[in-house]
Amino acid sequence: MNTEETKKLYDQYLMATYKPTVVISKAKGSRVYDASGKQYYDMTSGIGVHNVGHCTEGVVKAVQEQVAKLGHCSNLFINEPQALLAKKLVEISGLDGKVFFCNSGAEANEAAIKLARKWGAENGGRYEIVTMRNSFHGRTLATITATGQAWCQAGYDPLPVGFNYADFNDIDSVKAAVSDKTVAIMVEAVQGEGGVNPATEEFMAGVRALCDEKNLIMICDEVQCGMGRTGKWWGWQNYSVKPDLFTSAKSLADGVPMGALVSNAKFADVFTAGAHASTFGGNPLASAAALAVIKIIEDEKLLDAAVRKGELLREGLKGFVEKYSKILDVRGIGCMLGMVVDGDPKEIVDAFQDMGILALTAHGNVVRFLPTLSMSENHIEEAVEMMGDALDGLYGDAE
Ligand SMILES: *Cc1c(COP(=O)(O)O)cnc(C)c1O
Repeated sequence: MNTEETKKLYDQYLMATYKPTVVISKAKGSRVYDASGKQYYDMTSGIGVHNVGHCTEGVVKAVQEQVAKLGHCSNLFINEPQALLAKKLVEISGLDGKVFFCNSGAEANEAAIKLARKWGAENGGRYEIVTMRNSFHGRTLATITATGQAWCQAGYDPLPVGFNYADFNDIDSVKAAVSDKTVAIMVEAVQGEGGVNPATEEFMAGVRALCDEKNLIMICDEVQCGMGRTGKWWGWQNYSVKPDLFTSAKSLADGVPMGALVSNAKFADVFTAGAHASTFGGNPLASAAALAVIKIIEDEKLLDAAVRKGELLREGLKGFVEKYSKILDVRGIGCMLGMVVDGDPKEIVDAFQDMGILALTAHGNVVRFLPTLSMSENHIEEAVEMMGDALDGLYGDAE
């Protein structure tokens, strides 16, 4: 099929929740190809999914072998990859607790919310969760309510009760949002959709101290900033604190849908038999893929690479700040970077796409970059040059 034919099927048969323009038909490493064979540097990693790169050999092999042996068996039975993966996630987080597996970021956050409410019901009848304005936690009813952004809640009333909002990086605002019904505080160490906003050390330490003082659960949503994205396994590891619970998804199993909720020892046994469940959660296929992802990040030292490559990309983007008055600032950690622009970031993302670079927008006039951690230095340099050409086209190189 050519692009027009595929688009026609989209128009006729798919609910119009997205507005895609390009048909992607194959990928390798940090590059994807459209139906006509045009090449793009994928600096979205499929929205933070392919941290180790597209179609990476170790993942392809692990998935092929596992699907041919045992793809799924339900959680009524024990499967070895799930056991090994849970052990690995506990080890690389240093949280000393246990894991619950599901299939997406929203579901992982939903599990965290349910765990917090169950514990709160047993500890003083508390149920409120404080979340941050401009956060993003998913698209289920509970997680759009947790998400402190009106645009994704509009039209879905009545929303679940029990969420209070505070300003990110403002600990006094969080303190003001806590009541005697509060059971948990949920934060992203680096807000993704919300505009690539890293938390300050003061804020993370303040949230931790508040949770300790008031016997609250500190939940970190690591769906986007986890799995090596910031140069640490987890975004919160850039700070002096440890959360009680954190969630992962996106890059966890490199495109095989998977989410996880990881706890410390204190909250490891709140979920008892029958308290929560997922048919696909932790199935052998997804678990084998995630084990392969973790092995690649370790073997290829992609945590260090994320820091190095993020620095290289940041330098390139800073050059744009110097050259173009419409490019205002660069922020982020590791390979999670945002370029703040004066105007509509979509215009820039479209121009980049024409030039052969895929990037994302984020709230607050931000062009967001989530390149694969395996993208080579040469490719990053080439991508920066191509983006420069696109910006020259938009703003003129005389500026
Ligand atoms: C993408 C995202 C989610 C939602 O994940 P889904 O897999 O789309 O449900 C939740 N939290 C954060 C921080 C995200 O970036």
